[in-house]
Amino acid sequence: MTLHTSSHTHTILGAGLMGRLLAVSLARQGHGVTIYDSGGPLGEHSAARVAGGMLAPLAESAITEHGVVRMGRHSLTRWPELLAPLSTPVFFQQEGTLIVWHRQDANEADRLRLQLEKTRATVTELPAMQVLDSASMGQVEPALAQRFSQGMYLPGEGQLDNRQLLAALAQEMATLGVTAHWNCPKNPDEVSVDANGWLLDCRGLGARPQWSALRGVRGEVVRIHAPDVTLQRPTRLVHPRYPIYIAPKQDHVFVIGATEIESEDLSAPSVRSALELLSAAYAVHPGFAEARILEIAAQCRPTLPDNLPAIRQTAPRTLEINGLYRHGYMIAPAMLDVVLEVLDSGQSALASSFDLSLHLLEQH
Ligand SMILES: Cc1cc2nc3c(=O)[nH]c(=O)nc-3n(C[C@H](O)[C@H](O)[C@H](O)COP(=O)(O)OP(=O)(O)OC[C@H]3O[C@@H](n4cnc5c(N)ncnc54)[C@H](O)[C@@H]3O)c2cc1C
Repeated sequence: MTLHTSSHTHTILGAGLMGRLLAVSLARQGHGVTIYDSGGPLGEHSAARVAGGMLAPLAESAITEHGVVRMGRHSLTRWPELLAPLSTPVFFQQEGTLIVWHRQDANEADRLRLQLEKTRATVTELPAMQVLDSASMGQVEPALAQRFSQGMYLPGEGQLDNRQLLAALAQEMATLGVTAHWNCPKNPDEVSVDANGWLLDCRGLGARPQWSALRGVRGEVVRIHAPDVTLQRPTRLVHPRYPIYIAPKQDHVFVIGATEIESEDLSAPSVRSALELLSAAYAVHPGFAEARILEIAAQCRPTLPDNLPAIRQTAPRTLEINGLYRHGYMIAPAMLDVVLEVLDSGQSALASSFDLSLHLLEQH
């Protein structure tokens, strides 16, 4: 643990994913931290609570830029370091991602393979993808070998249990003496900040008044309990409209997600989405037929016009962190490291290696 000689009290708005990670890291450095959230410790207003927790930079390169892929790769090495000191264990695995498809989506799968190979040629630190035939499918994921005679295996990709993480971070905040104001929505002009401390705005969609172009992208997720099914790792199903993943958590709980709808609608999940997600799971493994549905949830991902994350300084000691879109868990440790660099030295070398949009005020 680094104990900085000059400690300040920092104020954080939003105790979702970024806010909690920052609160714990800054408190560990010896700083005072005060944090406000409009919801409670469960994170019931956050995208972080509903998310699937996939950490899949190569798979996601079909949808995002190489800078975000590099942030994802950086974060995969950082997650174990961030999780190790937490007093409550958090399920994290790095057993890779399996991609499968039905015959009618073979052309789509071919396009995806070419795209992933292209990413790998540029972001060379990513482990190489393996194309699987029926024999190697049997070795990688025996439970799916009968249904799928080919696939793609992306070694080194990961996932974590998002709800365990949120709970463990809330616990750690309490242990480290972070002052948490739950159920207490605030705007930046409503809080007083220590003269030498920073105001860190991590309110996701709650920061819309500050980011006029911020939008929500709706996603729906189903949680099921399937004692008859064992999968070693997240399986992605190639789908013409959005990638569907089935992620095994502990104790035969599976998260099936996520739809991707250009809408800020926060109403309950639709029948159509529930049918799509559940039939995708059933088509991957018939054992899901007897699963029990634990929850179907919807939330919106905080998204900027270019679908990329951004950090900007809007006053001498104010940083706004937003736009984590569908990659919050995949890139949060990288975003954290950039913010810590800025707080420490007023700049960030990491940000340029990630092509991250970082706008800092001129120093006078
Ligand atoms: C369906 C779905 C699936 C996803 N799956 C994945 C995935 O598999 N992998 C991945 O990497 N990412 C995934 N994500 C994305 C990830 O959840 C987000 O990118 C991430 O949660 C964003 O973090 P954040 O801290 O910026 O915002 P949030 O986690 O949304 O946190 C913002 C916090 O600010 C609080 N707040 C809002 N307004 C105020 C206010 N006025 N005052 C105080 N507090 C306020 C909210 O209560 C909330 O707790 C998914 C998201 C969704 C919706």
